[in-house]
Amino acid sequence: MSSKSTVTPMMAQYLEIKAEYPDALLFYRMGDFYELFFDDAVAAAEALDIALTKRGKHLGEDIPMCGVPFHAAEAYLLTLIRKGFRVAVGEQLESPAEAKKRGYKAVVKRGVVRLVTPGTLTEDSLLDARSNNFLAAFSQVRDETALAWADISTGDVWVQPCPRVKLGPELARLGPSEVLLSEGTFEDLAPIVEDVGASPTELGKASFDSNNADHVVRRVYQVASLDAFGTFERAELSALGALLGYVELTQKGKTPSLRPPIKETRGQAMEIDAATRRNLELTQSLSGKRSGSLLSVIDQTLTAAGARLMTAYLTGPSRDLEVLNTRLDRVDVLRNDPTLRSALRDKLRGTPDIDRAVSRLALDRGGPRDLAVVRTALEAAQEIAALVAASDDIIATTADDLIGLEDLQVTLDDALVAEPPLLARDGGFIAAGHHDELDELRTLRDEGRGVIAGLQKNYSDLAGITALKIKHNNVLGYFIETTATHADRMMAAPLSDTFIHRQTTANAVRFTTVELSELEQKILTSADQALAIEQRLFSELQTAVLDHAAELGEVSKAIAGLDVAASHAELASIANWTRPSLSSGTEFHVKGGRHPVVEAALRASGESFVANDCTLNDDRLWLLTGPNMAGKSTFLRQNALIVLLAQMGSYVPADEARIGLVSQLFSRVGASDDLARGRSTFMVEMVETAAILNQADDCALVILDEIGRGTSTYDGLSIAWASLEHLHDVNKCRALFATHYHEMTALAGKLDHVENATVAVKEHDGDVVFLHEVRRGAADRSYGVQVAKLAGLPPAVIDRAKVVLDALEKGDREGGGAKSAIIDDLPLFAASPAPAPSAPSSSDVEDRLQDVQPDDLTAREALDLIYELKSLLAETQSRT
Ligand code: ATP
Repeated sequence: MSSKSTVTPMMAQYLEIKAEYPDALLFYRMGDFYELFFDDAVAAAEALDIALTKRGKHLGEDIPMCGVPFHAAEAYLLTLIRKGFRVAVGEQLESPAEAKKRGYKAVVKRGVVRLVTPGTLTEDSLLDARSNNFLAAFSQVRDETALAWADISTGDVWVQPCPRVKLGPELARLGPSEVLLSEGTFEDLAPIVEDVGASPTELGKASFDSNNADHVVRRVYQVASLDAFGTFERAELSALGALLGYVELTQKGKTPSLRPPIKETRGQAMEIDAATRRNLELTQSLSGKRSGSLLSVIDQTLTAAGARLMTAYLTGPSRDLEVLNTRLDRVDVLRNDPTLRSALRDKLRGTPDIDRAVSRLALDRGGPRDLAVVRTALEAAQEIAALVAASDDIIATTADDLIGLEDLQVTLDDALVAEPPLLARDGGFIAAGHHDELDELRTLRDEGRGVIAGLQKNYSDLAGITALKIKHNNVLGYFIETTATHADRMMAAPLSDTFIHRQTTANAVRFTTVELSELEQKILTSADQALAIEQRLFSELQTAVLDHAAELGEVSKAIAGLDVAASHAELASIANWTRPSLSSGTEFHVKGGRHPVVEAALRASGESFVANDCTLNDDRLWLLTGPNMAGKSTFLRQNALIVLLAQMGSYVPADEARIGLVSQLFSRVGASDDLARGRSTFMVEMVETAAILNQADDCALVILDEIGRGTSTYDGLSIAWASLEHLHDVNKCRALFATHYHEMTALAGKLDHVENATVAVKEHDGDVVFLHEVRRGAADRSYGVQVAKLAGLPPAVIDRAKVVLDALEKGDREGGGAKSAIIDDLPLFAASPAPAPSAPSSSDVEDRLQDVQPDDLTAREALDLIYELKSLLAETQSRT
């Protein structure tokens, strides 16, 4: 800044605050608006599609400016956060009147009260109630690495060791909004974070310092020692410290109510990488929507906390037999007792989200409605406890977690009106009869308002002016207003004895009276006093709730658990699903299995799904061949989904299922582009196949759908062939392998644990009829041309394709060498002026030239190359 004299005091304050938040947009509060200046204004105006204007000058230049109204700020914040911005919210910390006391020109004090980032949102309007919003931190301390994550809108915190190679899969499981990385690892790891759609945030190394972390963790939890929470590795402590430190930083000293960190050990959950999650469409379909995903079909939960738990179970299926059997036992009870289930679900339907209400109250961002949420939820919890108490033990024990907070519920119920307003600011939420003094003041205030109405009538009669009104504004308070026409009469005796002139505006003249001023004083004082009492009562109720934050967390968990169990039971009963039998071996036996999403879609259009069996025991690899459109992909995926459902503790869409717990689930489809990451179809396919072949252990389940189709036939076939052999000999895992390379069916005879299976079709009048039945055995062909006909390819193309296909198949039967001659005989190719594809040609010369990198050649090498090319050409010409 070259000259200080050109900087206004307000701008100096703005620049000082902005300097502390260079990476965020600064929302600078000016009265009823948040204003943004300079580059912030340019960026925000574009992102929000609002007008970019100017406000004054800075160092001789116009200051770009844009603004958003304070009352609508949340919607704008959401848009900015979604577009990847962070926002520092700078509020006025005193009123203009207070500032004036410090000096005529004093600028109102302002400071940042909150840094809004994707991972630290708490407002209902900014969050999806049915999903968690995770903030994660990845830390590396020498050889140790760890991941910590929290949802500050619900108060849950976790930490676990996490090898660097597992960071991608773990983030894919959690789906965080923001991930904190240390400056040393940022460049390497940020792409992994962006890959899962999260926003990476770089923090200085000090934020990850594990010594400092110990201090931060103790401060946030207000405990003398961390021992109460278990023991933590240094990297875990460092990740936790960075995470909690960042929460403190963004919340500016307000501490959310966080539960003690849960230490997860690796190996508790089934491993599923990002590609498999995408491919199996667990929480989103391939088009990025919830509908069409597995979650959309199975989620029958009725509470927000239940929906979040359901997602957590689905995205992190368990490998713990005991945990799963307990979950399944609970589903059993509720499935077998439809009366209890229906009564329970009725109560769950109206149970609001305790976690998020408590979190907002803890951050001082809550209002009376959050108190009412706690009240209603506690009421529901008591009713639910009464319902389940008489049930089977495994459900009845939940009642213990649901009761015990009756006093809090009664306190809230006594204090609050039935439907309180969102904000405490304007009062009106404390019930009549709860507080005597408040009741008195309210009467005074409200009667005063009634008296004003009477006064208006009296004055109007007295002056004989019907166009006389008593109005109110913030500058004058109450005043009497009439039009200019009547003003002279009001200002002359005798009316001037009563009416005192206050103001003349363009269209009106304003007066007051002694009586009106006195009445106003009374109304104002009583209203202010009533509001002050309500604010005090709000704080007391807020404290009462926060004193029970931990117990409220338990209530919420119990409700969520029941909701999930009841949801599974409901689905099991409506859709006729069955309880899977789980074991620690490698058994896999599904009888009458169905694909839940395809089945639901078919049912909606009145069609039925053909159930199929799958047994992977001694023949633990199935090679599935069959026509296009027969249902191979559906069969592969349905078996993967059945495993997933079983290991989240759900019933499964099958008549019978016996499943040895799966450690890792892999699912790949050949040939899908990832152009955003600059990878070709085939490259993606191979990178993903490599991951499977390198990682799958003998408890894994692998689904490979047409691997190798992204390259030439023989390259693809060879890769598919070798991959299957590798799965058989090295990985020794259970696998389903679908392919159109019919040559591979020979492997069943060669490899001990491979079985051929096929999806049956019938041919009818040259057309193909899909039966969707999976049988043992191999398919003879792919019926691609028939399917193309069904798809509406022009008849001429179909006819032509049949001719080419016949010729190629004949060529194969009669030896590969004959193929080119046959193609030569086909009218289309023969008519072509181009040389026959495999006739001796100048292709050798071309091939050689393809390999040449001219810039790498020395003059001598270039000359040699010319000689070589000439001799190649001569050879080719002599052959033709
Ligand atoms: P391609 O080889 O062309 O990729 P595919 O053999 O993998 O085909 P799918 O994509 O699994 O075939 O299935 C095609 C369609 O057939 C599905 O969209 C579904 O509508 C129907 N389908 C698949 N399996 C069944 C089934 N078991 N019962 C009823 N309909 C089914």
